[in-house]
Amino acid sequence: MKLFPIFMKLAGRRVLVVGAGPVAESKIGGLLAAGAAVTVVAPSATDAVREWASANTLEWHSREFRPDDLDGAALAIAAVPASAAKAVFEESRRRGVLCNSVDDPGNCDFYYPAVVDRGDLQIAISTAGHSPALAQRLRKELEQRFGPEYAAWIRQLGEARREMFASEMDPGARRERLHEIAAGTPPNAGVVPSSGMVYLIGAGPGDPELLTLKALRILGHSDVVLHDDLLTPEILELIPSTARVESVGKRHNDRQVTQQEINQRMCAYAHSGKTVIRLKGGDGAIFGRAGEEIDALRAAGISFSIVPGVTAASGAAAAAGVSLTDRRLGSALVFLTAQRCKGNPPPNWKALAELGGAAAIYMPGGHEAHLAEELMAGGLDRQTACIVVSRATRPDERVIRTTVGKLADLPKLPAPALLLIGVLGAVETDPGTSIKLIKSKTKFI
Ligand code: SAH
Repeated sequence: MKLFPIFMKLAGRRVLVVGAGPVAESKIGGLLAAGAAVTVVAPSATDAVREWASANTLEWHSREFRPDDLDGAALAIAAVPASAAKAVFEESRRRGVLCNSVDDPGNCDFYYPAVVDRGDLQIAISTAGHSPALAQRLRKELEQRFGPEYAAWIRQLGEARREMFASEMDPGARRERLHEIAAGTPPNAGVVPSSGMVYLIGAGPGDPELLTLKALRILGHSDVVLHDDLLTPEILELIPSTARVESVGKRHNDRQVTQQEINQRMCAYAHSGKTVIRLKGGDGAIFGRAGEEIDALRAAGISFSIVPGVTAASGAAAAAGVSLTDRRLGSALVFLTAQRCKGNPPPNWKALAELGGAAAIYMPGGHEAHLAEELMAGGLDRQTACIVVSRATRPDERVIRTTVGKLADLPKLPAPALLLIGVLGAVETDPGTSIKLIKSKTKFI
């Protein structure tokens, strides 16, 4: 016989629980969460039940079950041995009260399902008692698929729905929009966006396959994408055609977009309820002015989430076939930029030279000779290996290996390019003749 699934409103309704051992305790928690007025009948009780009773969270009668305990009950739960449970079940039947005898399917009017509990989103699973193990497995799988973030999201969906019903919206358009938003996915756990939401996403060094799955998923439901000029066309193609895409790169635009303007656009779109993606090359938190954007979002009270990306140094090392750190060389890896904010002091080249490890120098653009001079003046050996990687992970990537002493003689390579210093494998056997143009995917270690 097929079971009839329902979700019951129990707030304020009387539920009788016969038994107060650990099994009863586990059932009582759910009943209290649903707001039921729980009466427990059992000669002895677990500590938790005693505490609930002394806090008046439930009523506990320290005695055996009596038929009139069922008076006014909406449901009865018998969490006692089968013989005692049978009496509760039979008396419940006589009075028309639905009863569950725990672990005794023959004496049950209803079963407890396995439940994925995400606040107001509840997914209940029943196998009609055939296989509680399968129900457990399905629950676990569904819990993985629908994480805790769904609890906040389901409330947001409800709010959006109520707002739409209260508005003058055309019913057809409303239905379409409701399906559209329900087709999305909730933002990260713990973040409850009041209006829109901003995702600060790192897109990696250029190869679209280096985009994270998370970045790709979020891009899929973006309303607005504000991207910098490191983004490759292959990645931009992954943005849904319904999204508004704006290039806010500071270099290649006809008109320079200031950081302040980017912050303002980002906040304005989010305030109007949009899902905004701030998409940057590499990892947004490395030489990407993410700090200023985070400050602006916090000041505007906008929810945001950061999705890290593969930084250019990792892409460059992969292109060159080297490891960024190598315990045979040292224990430090420094990320450095040749550009700096007006007024900031220059890097401590001497400290860098003495650190004993490798350095990834971002934005070396045109300053290679100067960098080499500073490093050597700081005490770095002129024979120290270095690699220049231009357009790492892109179809036209190029890798040149040289030494700090010869850095100034390099041909100019197309941007973006990055300099790796002091990585093992950077220089071939004869450093004197090592300036070489190496095409991508060439194995040379
Ligand atoms: N947030 C970025 C870095 C931005 S600074 C990241 O984490 O990668 C911009 C600099 O990054 C460029 O001047 C260049 O030095 C480096 N860069 C970015 N993409 C690169 C690529 N594909 N190949 C080589 N260098 C790259």
